[in-house]
Amino acid sequence: MSTPANSAYDRTPLIAGNWKMNMDHVQGSSLLQHLAEALSEAKHNYGRVEVAVFPPFTTLSAVQTLIQDDGLDLVSGGQDLSPFDSGAYTGDISGQFLAKLGCKYVLVGHSERRTIHGETDETLNAKVHAAYRHALTPVLCVGEGLDIRQAGTHVQHTLAQLRAGVDRLSTQQAAELVVAYEPVWAIGTGEVAGPEDAQEMCGAIRTELASLFDADVAARTRLLYGGSVKAGNAPAILNETDVDGVLVGGASLDAAEFANIAGFERQLAG
Ligand code: PEP
Repeated sequence: MSTPANSAYDRTPLIAGNWKMNMDHVQGSSLLQHLAEALSEAKHNYGRVEVAVFPPFTTLSAVQTLIQDDGLDLVSGGQDLSPFDSGAYTGDISGQFLAKLGCKYVLVGHSERRTIHGETDETLNAKVHAAYRHALTPVLCVGEGLDIRQAGTHVQHTLAQLRAGVDRLSTQQAAELVVAYEPVWAIGTGEVAGPEDAQEMCGAIRTELASLFDADVAARTRLLYGGSVKAGNAPAILNETDVDGVLVGGASLDAAEFANIAGFERQLAG
């Protein structure tokens, strides 16, 4: 069972919804309200999980207002941030602005940023450090494309991305980090890595963190799986020892489906 609440290390499962470039502030407010209703109806159905949404930048303010004014049991995050804090970086968003909008998390290195925007491991490491400068928790996304998976070098590839992403972090920062393993071939394709694939990589990431930092860091860092997660496949993935949550794209745009993913513990218990 993933991360029991009574574990010596408190790796509260994180159910994270990446809305990508969907949901303007009006649509996003409506989705969030529906999600809050679905979660509260199902509240007795799930244990201690943290539910986070990652709306587009222009929807974050509306999400912050709803969370604060309605006292919703949800947190928010940005989908990206600048490696810089302020200045002549047209179109970029500072971590400082995200923090002011109440964000707790920020995605760093989603595969769509790596491929479409050509973000390098070096830039992503700078973004990870920028997140910590503004008290945001980075969710560092790593994972291989289909060619690398077929060549059988997916573990080496993903661990190299991890090592670059965590370069020069303190042990404290590394322990707070969230790492999302997202095989690119499983994102938005309907192809899901099996629970054993998620465990293979999350186990390898935890072992690597122990060797880069120490065993305590490795035991505290939360590791997510992402790639075509739905309510039907989430419980088996989240049941794996080293999987501490999921990063959900398409299914997070459906309030009932996403709330059911958050209720995975009930399905496991049943
Ligand atoms: C994602 O965008 O991070 C993702 C996992 O998308 P999907 O769930 O749609 O595959």
